[in-house]
Amino acid sequence: MKFKRCILKLTGEAFSDPSALDKIANEIKQSYHPKLELAIVLGGGNFFRGRNAALRDKLVTDRAGMLGTVINGILLENILKPFAAHLSALDIKGFVTYYQIEKALEYLQLKKILILSGGTGLPHFTTDTATALRACELNADLILKATNVDGVYSTDPNRDPAAKLIKKISYKETINKNLKIMDQQAFALLQDRKIPLLVFNIFKHGNLKKALAGRQIGSMVC
Ligand code: UDP
Repeated sequence: MKFKRCILKLTGEAFSDPSALDKIANEIKQSYHPKLELAIVLGGGNFFRGRNAALRDKLVTDRAGMLGTVINGILLENILKPFAAHLSALDIKGFVTYYQIEKALEYLQLKKILILSGGTGLPHFTTDTATALRACELNADLILKATNVDGVYSTDPNRDPAAKLIKKISYKETINKNLKIMDQQAFALLQDRKIPLLVFNIFKHGNLKKALAGRQIGSMVC
């Protein structure tokens, strides 16, 4: 095992289609290893994305977006039980336990698959930033950014057939080349704390398992 404590960032889009969610949940179950500590930070883009809203509405959409991540968390927790525990940055009594670093560490040490919802709990942020923040707080060795493409490409692979997969790239180069992998706040945190980020295709069977085992797939940003 190359990495001991990993954070998987799962976009809300994974929750927009039940069959895709089942597929991802199966990949998570099959990849899980008793020595591994895994936390999953959930997006909420399947409900709302604040960045698309006018400033006047932004607080409302940000709150709706954060609540969306909690709904996703409740769904994923149900699929992954009894192996999962769910903590949220939003204090919603009766639905989910409030996030605390100590509680999160306790669950990780108990080898529960830790689902983290609610983002940072604050508007004006994204779940990418929440992922970077939790990675710093929980001393993660690696962040796994799950996507539906094989990694980071020189150009958009959906538009350019000549796009090349970049296997390894530095944070600095990613910023210079304006490759949009995570938002800038998240990047700044990860770069500062020197936490590597692996971008990979979670829809290819066995990829998550390979990534967690430290095998060379996708694109490593470090
Ligand atoms: N959000 C927020 N604060 C946070 C995290 C998320 O206000 O700390 C809101 C924001 O509006 C964001 C939405 O929740 O657009 C959903 O999160 P995100 O867009 O990161 O989800 P993803 O794109 O990963 O599905």
